[in-house]
Amino acid sequence: MVDTITGNQALQIEQPLIFEQNEPGRTAVDLPAPTVQEDRLGTLRRKTPVGLPGLSEPQVVRHYTRLSQKNYGIDSVFYPLGSCTMKHNPRLNEKMARLPGFADIHPFQPDSTVQGALELMDTLAHWLKELTGMPAVALSPAAGAHGELCGLMAIRAALEARGDARKVVLVPESAHGTNPATAATCGYEVESIPGDGNGRVSLAGLKDKLGPHVAAFMITNPNTCGLFEGEIVEISQAVHDAGALVYMDGANYNAIMGRVKVADLGIDAMHINLHKTFSTPHGGGGPGSGPTVLSDALAPFAPLPFVVHGPDGFRMVEHARDAGEGQQPFGRMKGFHGQFGVFVRALSYMMSMGKDGLAQASGDAVLNANYLHARLKGSLSASYEGPVMHEALFDDRFLKDTGVSTLDFAKAMIDEGFHPMTMYFPLVVHGALLMEPTETESKQTLDAFCDTLLALADKARAGDAADWFKSAPRHTPRRRLDEAQAARKPVLRWSPPSEG
Ligand SMILES: *Cc1c(COP(=O)(O)O)cnc(C)c1O
Repeated sequence: MVDTITGNQALQIEQPLIFEQNEPGRTAVDLPAPTVQEDRLGTLRRKTPVGLPGLSEPQVVRHYTRLSQKNYGIDSVFYPLGSCTMKHNPRLNEKMARLPGFADIHPFQPDSTVQGALELMDTLAHWLKELTGMPAVALSPAAGAHGELCGLMAIRAALEARGDARKVVLVPESAHGTNPATAATCGYEVESIPGDGNGRVSLAGLKDKLGPHVAAFMITNPNTCGLFEGEIVEISQAVHDAGALVYMDGANYNAIMGRVKVADLGIDAMHINLHKTFSTPHGGGGPGSGPTVLSDALAPFAPLPFVVHGPDGFRMVEHARDAGEGQQPFGRMKGFHGQFGVFVRALSYMMSMGKDGLAQASGDAVLNANYLHARLKGSLSASYEGPVMHEALFDDRFLKDTGVSTLDFAKAMIDEGFHPMTMYFPLVVHGALLMEPTETESKQTLDAFCDTLLALADKARAGDAADWFKSAPRHTPRRRLDEAQAARKPVLRWSPPSEG
């Protein structure tokens, strides 16, 4: 028996591509026929059809509404993706970003006409410097990975300025893939630093690798196992003693926001993912923003452009010659000044929370992660002893001999209405399940989530459930994809049937 007659299930409707819905000549607007018949295009008139689909307005509205409902997002479900900080995005921030004075301006406008926007950037910079205790910040990097590049380029500029070009960047084995990728992009050789067996960097292992060839050490703190690097001050000291600089990956800043001034940890550069910590919508490739704070040693090399406040108001410094005494900007990170819409949302978040509110948010984020860790560790296998910071890491030992993999387990969660956690990262534990609840989830949500995970773990261990897990998800618009095929032979372009 066929499941359904139409292939649809209630509101889960099979949606063809917009081009496949084309009805030539159909449009969403009714314009009067032109009264002037003169051909003003002449030879410029196109000879082939433009190739846009003909659709009515209700067709267009339904098409995009249906597609939007096929998505999993923080507005519809709990989204415990570790390392990604999928917290609720307050609507106040959206309202601020839509104010015409912020939304309808252009980077080519004269400074005198955008004083408010420049003041907003200056105020955001002030908050970031105040929270981190660092003397300078480059606002222009467009994401965390771009901020890493900015930090390493500042480090390279500082080393070259003292005539000490070095070749190697050290990275812990638990690092996010962007860290070694950034160092390699910047032209450095990457060497890996082992862990200490308790999910943290081995100080002895680091000291072994330090030397006059090392430009920088990149460290994530709290790290990707959700643990605070308690020896961070000794680590920074050892790096500085070897003449190198310390880059901190600040993607996990949500665990320490408002509580730790990273300047006190001996950090020279750190990016802050505004889209993670400061609550602006992200995922699916953007938009992001990765302002990078810089220490006294790196501040003179900060990239262009930046905002300064003078007697005549705010001004955007665009050229090295205007950068001021002692400044040697290493260049620029992107065409304009950065992701302004994200700046507005992030500052709106900071100002509405206040400094105490930000500290409470990081405290609640850590509390929520410890709640998950405590409720789950008896059944799932916790990779390291708690307490944890803002995320809880488990590995796949609890699935041993069940025939169920981390991937199968995650797919089964989708059928239960939960977005899976981060899987198979960090690489230092086998079959990782990394959960980051953030501060915006209630105890009810966390309990429903834990109850589900505990029930799924019991089901896996009870035996005979491998096929059930492997056939998940069952209630999604698409079932399990062939991931190798999807990665190797993605079909990214639609061709009209006539082109074959
Ligand atoms: C997200 C993340 C990054 C990269 O940030 P993007 O904004 O995605 O470029 C780097 N390191 C860690 C630990 C992260 O979680």
